[in-house]
Amino acid sequence: MKLTNRQQIEDLSRFKSEKFLTTSFFLSTDKSRLSRKEILVSAKNLVNLGRANLESLDLPKEKKASLAGDLDRIWEFSERNTTSNSQGLAIFSASGAGFWQDIHLPHAPRNRILFDGNPYIRPLAQILGRYHRIGIFLVGRREARWYSLTMGEMTPLDVITSDVPSKVKDGGFEGTSEKRIGRHVEAHLHDHFKKAAQKTFDLFKKDQFDWLFLGCEDGFASDIEQFLHRYLLDRLKGRLKAKPSDPADRVLKEALELEHTLDAASEEGAIKGFVAEIEKGGRAVSGIRDSLRALNEREVQTLLVSHNFSSAGKSCPKCKFLYIAETVCPVCEKPTETLADVVDEGIEAAFRENAAVRQISPPSRLDHYGNIGALLRYKK
Ligand SMILES: [Zn+2]
Repeated sequence: MKLTNRQQIEDLSRFKSEKFLTTSFFLSTDKSRLSRKEILVSAKNLVNLGRANLESLDLPKEKKASLAGDLDRIWEFSERNTTSNSQGLAIFSASGAGFWQDIHLPHAPRNRILFDGNPYIRPLAQILGRYHRIGIFLVGRREARWYSLTMGEMTPLDVITSDVPSKVKDGGFEGTSEKRIGRHVEAHLHDHFKKAAQKTFDLFKKDQFDWLFLGCEDGFASDIEQFLHRYLLDRLKGRLKAKPSDPADRVLKEALELEHTLDAASEEGAIKGFVAEIEKGGRAVSGIRDSLRALNEREVQTLLVSHNFSSAGKSCPKCKFLYIAETVCPVCEKPTETLADVVDEGIEAAFRENAAVRQISPPSRLDHYGNIGALLRYKK
């Protein structure tokens, strides 16, 4: 299935087997960055990593057999499914319990494989969190039409048609009559806009979109905006050329382009703010070592990470601090454990501390700062 909503994640989170562990597998299949061969190599590496982990685990025979079955099936499945046009693949399997769920993702996850008591769903929540619910409001002289757009899927919401007389160019015999008709048309038009704006608010109360895109003639925009509720004005992120009568696929294409432009601008803004802070020696750190230290010290406000940047590292089993190479925790002097990907643990730690996490699509200026950095909280 395709990842489209939070309900799917909640359903997965409810699975738990008393007898068997679950394998969670995440693979980037983003063909704009990776060839089919590279995707297959990553899949193979992940499955092999899983097999090596399995070897080292001290578990009852049947639990191990179930996990080994997961790995075989995951490899077979990913081998057959690298040609799909989704950007990522998530698989959750507990073969001993007959549990299997494969999910195509609209955005590339960080590659990883792990065994746990239940499905590891955080990466799915992270992907969903990247997407905005967008309300699309298209309004013409008589018609208004609404769609909702989320994760690339557009759904029609409603349509209204108002009884607005056509513009009368040469209707009256004399100037005053023309003006009167003009005013009459205008009053109807305003009623139509007002009704449509109210309807937009009603839909918002049900759909709770984060962003609103407005499509109308340039001359109408300010007339319509004056009727929009303040909540909607706050969410109004851009304008579309689309009209209510346009075919849905054209509306979708334009809305997706606008969403992409806005996302790219926001990412660029985050990087710019970060670089400025670093350059003036402000409240920011760059590079894996300093970023981990800031995470350990709970100073991170926003963590910026190049998408799929990873690095091996260490963690302290007692204080959970993260390091690059320390074999003994400098804080509590316990021997540290080796992590295949300390960046991933860092992202988890940032979430636990309620820090924002921005995954930045490479190439970006973050590459020059070691692919990772953090804006720090202001000291109280
Ligand atoms: Zn420690």
